[in-house]
Amino acid sequence: MSSTPSLNSTQTETTPRAPSPSAKNEQWIEKAKAHLLQNYKQQPIVLERGLGSRVWDADGREYLDLLGGIATCGLGHCHPEVVAAVRGQLDKLWHVSNVFYSEPQIELAARLTAASGLARAFFCNSGAEANEALIKLARKVQKDRGQTERYEVITFENSFHGRTLATVTATGQTKYQKGFEPLPQGFTHVPYGDLEAVRKAVGPRTAAILVEPIQGEGGVRAAPPGFLKALRALCDEHGLLLMIDEIQTGMGRTGKVFAFQHEDVLPDAISLAKSLGNGLPIGAMLCSEEAGKSLTAGTHGSTFGGNLIAAVAANVVARKVTEPQMLRDVTQKGEYFLGRLRELQRRLPTIIKEARGLGLLIGVELFQDSAPIIARCRELGLLLNAAGEKTLRFAPAFTVSHDDLDHGVRILERALKP
Ligand SMILES: *Cc1c(COP(=O)(O)O)cnc(C)c1O
Repeated sequence: MSSTPSLNSTQTETTPRAPSPSAKNEQWIEKAKAHLLQNYKQQPIVLERGLGSRVWDADGREYLDLLGGIATCGLGHCHPEVVAAVRGQLDKLWHVSNVFYSEPQIELAARLTAASGLARAFFCNSGAEANEALIKLARKVQKDRGQTERYEVITFENSFHGRTLATVTATGQTKYQKGFEPLPQGFTHVPYGDLEAVRKAVGPRTAAILVEPIQGEGGVRAAPPGFLKALRALCDEHGLLLMIDEIQTGMGRTGKVFAFQHEDVLPDAISLAKSLGNGLPIGAMLCSEEAGKSLTAGTHGSTFGGNLIAAVAANVVARKVTEPQMLRDVTQKGEYFLGRLRELQRRLPTIIKEARGLGLLIGVELFQDSAPIIARCRELGLLLNAAGEKTLRFAPAFTVSHDDLDHGVRILERALKP
C-alpha cells in the first residue's frame, strides 16, 4: 500500500524543509485565523491531498502521516477500494432518512454484529453520539427492569468519551469540563485499572460501567490484564451493563477487530466511530439482544446516522479488518514499530520515559512537554499528535510499510536529539 508516487523515503529525509510554512499555507492559515472558531490548537499546515500514509500540504510539501487522521483512516488515505465504493454510491443515492431501510446500512449491521458477537447495531455520526447512545441505553435498560433508581454510570479517571454535555461529564478529565457547569448528573469516576475502587463505587444508583480498553486520548494506557474480565464479573454480580468505548481501539486498531477480544469477555454494548468510516463521519452503538429491546421505536434516533455514503465506506473497512491477514499485519507491524521505539528509548533514556501500546495504537511518553517535539517532527516531515501532555501518539494506517515505520523512527530520533 506504500506504492505512492515519488515516495523515496531517503529523498524525503534529506530534502531540506523550510522552518516555517510558506506561500499558500500561510495565506490559508491567515484566513483560518480570521474565520474559524479558535477551539483547536492547530498545527500550522494546510493539508490538501493524501495517499496511503502520505499527505501533502498546500505548498506541495510531503509528510509521513503516522497519526492516520487521528486514528480514523485505518486503511490509509484514499484507499482505492473505499474510493471505489464511495464513487459507486455517489451516483446512486446519498441519503434516505432512517424512516426507510437502505442496503449498505443493513449490510454493515450484519457485518459488525457478526464480528463482535453482539446482536444489534445503531448508527450515528460521531464517537460522542455513540457514547450518548450507550448512556441512554444503560438508563433505559435499568428503567425497563424496574430499577428506576439506577441511572449512574461509573467511568474512569483520565478517560475520554467525547465533548457533548453527557459524554464530557463521563470523561474523567476536569480540564474538558471546566466552565460548562452545571454538568448532567449520573457519572462517577474512579482510578483506571483499580478494581477495588470500582467495587466500592458500585451502589444502589449504579446502572453501568463505561470503560476504554486502552485510554487513547489519556496517553495510550492499557487497562491491566484481566481488568475487563473482572469488570464483567462485577457487572454480572450487580446487574450492571458493561459498556466498552471502542471508538479509538475498535475496527482492527489493536490487532483484533475489537480490543475487548484480547480478553475473554463479551460486553453488553460497545461504541464505535473513528476508523469505522476510514475518515467519513460514522459512529455505531452495538448491543446485546436483551439490552437492545429497551430502545424501541421512537426512543432514540439520528437523521444522518448510517447515511449511505458513510455506510458503503464502513462496509469496506468492516470487510478488510475482519480478514485474518489484516489483523496479523496490524499485530506484526505494531510489534515491529514498538520494538524500534523501545530501541530508541534505550538510546535516549533521559528523553523517552516509555514506549507502549497495542497493535498500531502506540504512545511514546517523554520526560518533557511533547508540543515542541511534535512541531520539530512536522518540520522534518512527520505528522503525529499528543495524547496527554507528555505522550506522543502514533495511530498509523494498517497498510503502513515497514520502511515508513523505520523512516518515522529516524525522524523522531532527529527531533528528540538535543
Ligand atoms: C475520539 C473519541 C471519542 C469522541 O469521538 P468524537 O467522534 O470526537 O465525538 C470518544 N471516545 C474515545 C475513546 C475516543 O477516542
